[in-house]
Amino acid sequence: MAVSFSLRTLAGIIAASALAIALAGCSSEESSQTPAEQDNVSQTQAAEQSSAGRSAAETTEAQPSSEFMQVAIGEAYQGIEAGDGGPFGSVIVKDGEIVGQGHNRVLANNDPTCHGEMEAIRDACQNLGTYDLAGCELYTTAEPCPMCLGAVLWSNMDVVYYGCTREDSAEIGFRDDAFYRQLNGEEETVGLQEFDRDTCRQLFDDYAAGNAQRY
Ligand SMILES: [Zn+2]
Repeated sequence: MAVSFSLRTLAGIIAASALAIALAGCSSEESSQTPAEQDNVSQTQAAEQSSAGRSAAETTEAQPSSEFMQVAIGEAYQGIEAGDGGPFGSVIVKDGEIVGQGHNRVLANNDPTCHGEMEAIRDACQNLGTYDLAGCELYTTAEPCPMCLGAVLWSNMDVVYYGCTREDSAEIGFRDDAFYRQLNGEEETVGLQEFDRDTCRQLFDDYAAGNAQRY
């Protein structure tokens, strides 16, 4: 049975994790607003989006469709049969239509970021010509790992319906649960320390002096 959750609920889990996700269609749109004005606008938009996301999630949470999960499962089987990677398939739906899909292609591409969710996000962004997937739902065969959850948050999708849990993934040899433990401060699997902050702050100051869109 698929389980759904509000993105707001889990946003805090990875708040400390700065995951830079390279997605197709990155915008270079200019704005005449000052950075401060833009921050205010961004915060307002984020609040509005968050509110919209909640109501969308409330609306859609009660009625996920197994039809879409079946497509995600089909994607996963396709990947397994091709030897592309693990049993992970994903489908992105907007207004009842599939707008993107994909499966794990880590082995096929020699790329650890090619999880099913990432492939589906890239596909949907390319198909829709945007980096913003607000109004979309993700169906995925397993609970997203921290990287994919980060990508989901960056993409502004409203809701995720996942099948297998992170514990189910651990049972068949995948490390999602261990990575979540690192984010929860329960164990350390990679060293993470601040270094050369002042030098990097100069970079930020240079960027902040312009009015580029924050994305
Ligand atoms: Zn993932």
